[in-house]
Amino acid sequence: MQVTIDDFRQLLGSGGVLAADDARARRGGIYHEDNIAAQAVLRPRTTDEVAEILRRCNAARQTIIVHGGLTNLTHGADTRPADIVLSLERMNVIEEIEPLGRTMTVQAGVPLQVIQEAAAAHDLMFAVDLGARGSCQIGGNVSTNAGGNRVIRYGMMRENVLGLEAVLADGTVVSSLNRMIKNNAGFDLKHLFIGTEGQLGIVTRLVLRLREASRSQSTGFVAIDSFARVPQFLKHMDRELGGMLSAFEVMWASFYDAVTTPPARGKPPLPGEYPYYVLVESLGADPETDAARFEAAMIAAIDAGLAADAVLAKSQGERAALWALRDDVEQMFRYGRPIIFDVSLAIAYMEQYVADVQAALSRHYPDHHMLTFGHLGDGNLHFAIAVGDTGESARRKVEESVYGPLMAIGGSVSAEHGIGLEKKPYLDWCRTPAEIDLMRTLKRTLDPNGILNPGKVFDL
Ligand SMILES: Cc1cc2nc3c(=O)[nH]c(=O)nc-3n(C[C@H](O)[C@H](O)[C@H](O)COP(=O)(O)OP(=O)(O)OC[C@H]3O[C@@H](n4cnc5c(N)ncnc54)[C@H](O)[C@@H]3O)c2cc1C
Repeated sequence: MQVTIDDFRQLLGSGGVLAADDARARRGGIYHEDNIAAQAVLRPRTTDEVAEILRRCNAARQTIIVHGGLTNLTHGADTRPADIVLSLERMNVIEEIEPLGRTMTVQAGVPLQVIQEAAAAHDLMFAVDLGARGSCQIGGNVSTNAGGNRVIRYGMMRENVLGLEAVLADGTVVSSLNRMIKNNAGFDLKHLFIGTEGQLGIVTRLVLRLREASRSQSTGFVAIDSFARVPQFLKHMDRELGGMLSAFEVMWASFYDAVTTPPARGKPPLPGEYPYYVLVESLGADPETDAARFEAAMIAAIDAGLAADAVLAKSQGERAALWALRDDVEQMFRYGRPIIFDVSLAIAYMEQYVADVQAALSRHYPDHHMLTFGHLGDGNLHFAIAVGDTGESARRKVEESVYGPLMAIGGSVSAEHGIGLEKKPYLDWCRTPAEIDLMRTLKRTLDPNGILNPGKVFDL
């Protein structure tokens, strides 16, 4: 039995199906050079339509690649010409906001920024935030267990999803739209679909956890003259702010230089002579006392020698300018197409680890460019490495230089971006054979015909 694109036109209406030529007009990902090669892009509006698509595709052993906002950085949604794309872009309805219970029920295709703005309109906050907020979709955020800028305070997506609905490969709808923070009645099935990159089912609806909107935001930027002082400064601010610390973003001098010199438009808030810079922020409830507390903590850090220099944002404009430096990831491309890394490791190993990566790269490519930055409070480092050679063997050397030193210190090849295709060869560098076997068992059980995002994360 075969599926035909005309069958799907009947099911979804003509606007619900883009044939191969129209699909080809779309880029395959935010930084991709290639366009989408696939039989068609299907654009359902409801869970029932998703279920019917999967029933038909499963019966026909037709492979499906799920597309959210296509901002993933792992080639996790790449297609082949024989695949069918299922895009959640028309499942973009916010169904309900419940201010008392602090929940929002949404379809999976709603962009993250739309969710943030809808929560803010009710004096609430959806806490997950990342640079791709305008383009990524909440279903993609769940499927990658996205992290971002406020994980240190509010956790990753996993901590901000209460309930979830997903469609299994055979079309079964598993509606687990729990609204409670506590619910230990049996297995918490949502975790099968959070961070599993579309391997085990298609996420169609979600109940999100909202928080009370903060009334104060204090933002500072500091220069630090040795790595040892960076985690000391983190501990100091966390202790002094009594639970209000919400962001701790570190930039190595290489990144700071790239985002504060032309062609970047950012202006340096502090002299560029230090090895480390930190954007630090707190969210609280009382603008006056919180600002005073934040300032006192910063002054104490300088007095204790933890920070060498510092500025405080005195207006929303100054705050936005500091965040614009951190978010100017386009500068990663100024030295040519880079390989982007997203590793995690214990802070205790970080200084030596970065030195080891740098040394390994210098052995192979003395003229390489490496920009280093990260959500350091979460042990998460990003590198953008350009070596002037974009060939496969150069990529392999660079990847081995980054991932090699991680093994001995128990780090991970992916802190928040996931595995996709790009990191698939390295999954077993940080997961045991028993762990990967269990992942395979889950995949074979829930998707026995291997129709969902085949070939990503691991081979069956
Ligand atoms: C400028 C920039 C900044 C970024 N910053 C961060 C950051 O700070 N933290 C972070 O974690 N990531 C970050 N990312 C990466 C990216 O934004 C996240 O991985 C995001 O969660 C992907 O969402 P998406 O909707 O674009 O998903 P897509 O790229 O469309 O898909 C990602 C994966 O999820 C699957 N998928 C998508 N939707 C569904 C669904 N409904 N059901 C099942 N599977 C699905 C896809 O098949 C694919 O495997 C950044 C990216 C950019 C470009």
